[in-house]
Amino acid sequence: MRERDGVTTAGCEPLALPGVRGIAPYQTGKPIAELARETGIAEADIVKLASNENPLGMSPSAIAAAAAALGELARYPDGAGFDLKAALSAKFGLTLAHIVLGNGSNDVLDIVGRVFLGPGTSAVYSQHAFAVYGLVCQAVGAERIEVPARDYGHDLAAMRAAIRPDTRVVWIANPNNPTGTLLAPEDVREFVFSLPEHVVAVLDEAYTEYLEPAQRGDSLAWIRQHPRLLVTRTFAKIHGLAGLRVGFGAGDPALIDLCNRVRQPFNVNSIALAAAVAALGDEDFVARSAAANREGMAQMRAGLDALGVPYIPSFANFLAVEVGDAAVVNAGLLKNGVIVRPVAGYGMPRHLRVSIGLPHENQHFLDVLATLLGKA
Ligand SMILES: *Cc1c(COP(=O)(O)O)cnc(C)c1O
Repeated sequence: MRERDGVTTAGCEPLALPGVRGIAPYQTGKPIAELARETGIAEADIVKLASNENPLGMSPSAIAAAAAALGELARYPDGAGFDLKAALSAKFGLTLAHIVLGNGSNDVLDIVGRVFLGPGTSAVYSQHAFAVYGLVCQAVGAERIEVPARDYGHDLAAMRAAIRPDTRVVWIANPNNPTGTLLAPEDVREFVFSLPEHVVAVLDEAYTEYLEPAQRGDSLAWIRQHPRLLVTRTFAKIHGLAGLRVGFGAGDPALIDLCNRVRQPFNVNSIALAAAVAALGDEDFVARSAAANREGMAQMRAGLDALGVPYIPSFANFLAVEVGDAAVVNAGLLKNGVIVRPVAGYGMPRHLRVSIGLPHENQHFLDVLATLLGKA
């Protein structure tokens, strides 16, 4: 209740859907400019390893394509995303009808929620899994079934057992964020194909390009054999287009058709569409990014090993590092111009998630951490 001019008026909070009232907003990485304002540290001296962004930036051809698209911004984007879908189809052996585009792959996850979830339904996902799965459920009033993790990874047998008659969606993140854990492709395939017919599987592969070929399942071929499997991918991670917001889902045409019914007609902007086509074509940039990540990961692991600081072995472009009281260590890192991601909200109050950066950024993090832990 709020008082204005002697009249008491009720606010909106009680009017919101119960699920929405229960939402704790997604924690994003602190922007560099914000830490600079707070600490007085120059932006150039701040190291941000908080959002799993590509430290190499984006492909030069994607930058050129984005710049070329600026001249056409008075027009709406192509709502069908024809050029990008055509490029994705050619690359992955799909048809346009197998693809839905999203304003980031988060948009696709949200679309799935609006197609299949609502009051009276439930969705299954793992403890420590990507936070957006739970948020999507809450926003539409679906029940969340969070299955205890095994060694920080998905326990597929327990997730299978947790499925109820009202379950409509099972979310699988492979590799998972923020733990970096990976499931074997044959286990994922067996799990997906074992699901009952009232369940849609969403396989979130935001980090798949960082894997070695043998670690990767042929998930985009599985969608031809499974009408209730949606594979999601993003341009935000290895392609370096996080700020543009573009991702996609691939699945059976009937599933994609449902997704297209609820998505915003112009959900992906023109610059993102153009840049994504160029990024997809720059295989050299992707290979260089994967190689840089491998080297940075080795550097980070060696540094942590030398300090005796444990971490969860990761298959992505970040590490969940077990630092003890993560809130205290995080405050110390911030004071020294290092931004990482606290993951207490994921039930991991002793870990910090640290993205793999450039060699000097990784070293700066390791040096500050050593000092904070009294090991310098
Ligand atoms: C980063 C990430 C995404 C990608 O989100 P965008 O909306 O494409 O930026 C999706 N899933 C997981 C698990 C992620 O970590």
